[in-house]
Amino acid sequence: VFITFEGGDGVGKSTQIRFLARFLEEHGRTVLRLREPGGTAVGEALRRVVLDPAHGTMSDRAELLIYEAARAQIVDEVIKPALSRGAIVLCDRFYDSTVAYQGAGRGLDGAFIEAANRFACDGLAPDVTLLLAAPEATVRSRMERRAGTDRLEQAGEAFHRRVADGFAAVAAAEPERVRTVRSERQRVATFRAVLAAVAPLLPE
Ligand code: C5P
Repeated sequence: VFITFEGGDGVGKSTQIRFLARFLEEHGRTVLRLREPGGTAVGEALRRVVLDPAHGTMSDRAELLIYEAARAQIVDEVIKPALSRGAIVLCDRFYDSTVAYQGAGRGLDGAFIEAANRFACDGLAPDVTLLLAAPEATVRSRMERRAGTDRLEQAGEAFHRRVADGFAAVAAAEPERVRTVRSERQRVATFRAVLAAVAPLLPE
């Protein structure tokens, strides 16, 4: 079973992934927790390239291709083998982030992004995607409490609004796969909604 978590910065993805991983492990499942970009040696190296402010301004097209390269690597090296071993794979971000950030956020061509995502994933798609969403004010106060700001977190409010709209459009286009979970509540309440969305996928 392949489950991805999506949403803008500060919506609580990493907390919910941690909760779900622990819950599943307590129920005896084999769980693999990944983040994207990252999750492989190649991917972590690419993550540093794309997120380090010291690298200066990166071309939007270069950024897109780096995300896709990292994705191709994690799909081949980690996700596909894990799924064929029967593991439950939880991934913090996947191709919907590219649609939202590089497509809606940076304005790159949507048809190209779709084709690049398909190429990178080689036929793999999440069984369910949890889109966490919270009001801007909630996100902002969470982000202010967070320590480091990377190059992308410095992007302006208008950018983050376009990204949020991009995610919402993905959810509207694929309501079967993408479940929106409001995350401005207590994290345990959010987790109950996450669990309700993934429960039908989990074998007895
Ligand atoms: O997953 P995480 O929130 O750590 O992602 C790191 C940064 O990468 C975020 O600030 C996010 O805005 C950015 N990102 C992006 N395009 C993607 C995936 C992530 O701009 N496709």
